[in-house]
Amino acid sequence: MSTKYIFVVGGVMSGIGKGVATSSIGKILQSRGWKVSAMKIDPYINVDAGTMNPIEHGEVFVTEDGLECDQDIGNYERFFGVPMHRVNYMTTGAVYQTVINKERNLQYGGKCVEVVPHIPEEIIRRIKTAARHDKADILMVEIGGTVGEYQNMLFLEAARMMHLRTPHDVLFVMVSYLPVPEKIGEMKTKPTQYAVRTLNSAGIQPDLIIARGETPIDKPRKQKISVFCNLSDQDIISAPDITTIYEVPLNFEKDKLGDRIQDKLKLKRRKKDLHDWGKLIRSIKRSRKQVRIGIVGKYFATGNFSLTDSYISVLEALKHASWAERHIPELVWLNAELYEKNRKILKNLQDFDGIVVPGGFGKRGSEGKINVIEYCRKERIPILGLCYGMQLMVVEFARHIAKMKNAHSIESDSKTPYPVIDVMAEQKSNIKEKHLGGTMRLGSYSCKVIKGTVAEKAYQKTMVQERHRHRYEVNNKHIDRLQRKGLVVSGINPERKLVEIIEITDHPFFLGTQFHPEFTSLPLQPHPIFLAFLKSIIKKRRNAS
Ligand code: GLN
Repeated sequence: MSTKYIFVVGGVMSGIGKGVATSSIGKILQSRGWKVSAMKIDPYINVDAGTMNPIEHGEVFVTEDGLECDQDIGNYERFFGVPMHRVNYMTTGAVYQTVINKERNLQYGGKCVEVVPHIPEEIIRRIKTAARHDKADILMVEIGGTVGEYQNMLFLEAARMMHLRTPHDVLFVMVSYLPVPEKIGEMKTKPTQYAVRTLNSAGIQPDLIIARGETPIDKPRKQKISVFCNLSDQDIISAPDITTIYEVPLNFEKDKLGDRIQDKLKLKRRKKDLHDWGKLIRSIKRSRKQVRIGIVGKYFATGNFSLTDSYISVLEALKHASWAERHIPELVWLNAELYEKNRKILKNLQDFDGIVVPGGFGKRGSEGKINVIEYCRKERIPILGLCYGMQLMVVEFARHIAKMKNAHSIESDSKTPYPVIDVMAEQKSNIKEKHLGGTMRLGSYSCKVIKGTVAEKAYQKTMVQERHRHRYEVNNKHIDRLQRKGLVVSGINPERKLVEIIEITDHPFFLGTQFHPEFTSLPLQPHPIFLAFLKSIIKKRRNAS
């Protein structure tokens, strides 16, 4: 069977769940036994997502082979339950870099190298490489942004060329938004009509339209889009807002999307099995008990709006673990900087069942996070530190328990007398020479889990693989003093003796990981560390009541 490609493009506006739609389409096909994989195309000049602003672009996700990429790759992993790799992501920058390097190496045989066809050809090469690498029957290809943007024209051109060559193997899905303006009180289809026309002008006709909206799309509007956009009304799939993204595949099936796609791609019809997912959704809907978890961060404000995409994997991991414990998480944003200026508000942390200090960079907000960590340690509030969060837990412990005055991470205070978090030796030249893109300690590394610790109890194993993204590490020069004072090192990288997990005893839960467990948490398989965190919260609540 030849590989099938499903391109997913956005109409009208971004941020309406194109990634979730792509993942969900993949999921319903995977549930029929097809081997499905996905690829994300990001129309940025940045070569990878590592150098993009998390407020503008959202979380930087990291694959096991160490690529810093778009958060949608995280969605694919969470929906498909299989790891993605470098091949599953490309940016405009990466494409141009390859073409220019090839030109410099005379790999075009001295020909004139042009934007068209050489750029689309490189894009097609990458798409096919991903399909081959993943041995995919079906590859979902999500094109970032919306149609009509200058930046994604060359990607649409590549998709058009692929369709021209093998029309039966290529399908186009447009995810569009249907607004219901309050004053009008009616779902409007015109923006979608314009978006389809724009796509048509790139030589592409959508085979399916995913109609995103606050409410389900009704029959008259389906018919309108059908007539004006030139596709059958059965190919307009209703996609209303829902409480959890994991319900989207089940919703799509209500409009028989899986069968429509199999027919269009001339695939033999297979039956779906979304049994486990249905069970998860039913259990979420039945859960009544709540847990209130605060997340202390700084990457969420832009102008007057708060965006929470910067920590999406952390949020999802907290949901997975809470659901497994039959609780509904209420996740609240806490602005680290406020806790820096005003220590009085620390007592508000009593309103939370648990606190997460996620990853981060730089000085801004770090003292606020340290204050929060100190308060949670003293007040016995369960707290989980991730990457920078773990590093600041070590700083807090050093300052207040090991009496290392003004201890800090070199990242935030280069003159600290106690650099308990130091820059990794091999990173010094990277920083000096400004080799800053893609040079952190990235991807999956092993971690030996020490017997008899909270970490070991969580994992039930003594060797695990976890994903990383950092330049700094716990300074082994100071570790003895910290350990003597009671800091437990419960995870170590065996090759390089790097501290991977720390915890303290005599606390309901005070644990930090140098790695990012949130990247590998799945809806049906919550990450053990998050699960242990949730269990400690629930146990503490039970004891209190
Ligand atoms: N800034 C810290 C480091 O580079 C932590 C990074 C992170 O939280 N991802 O080590």
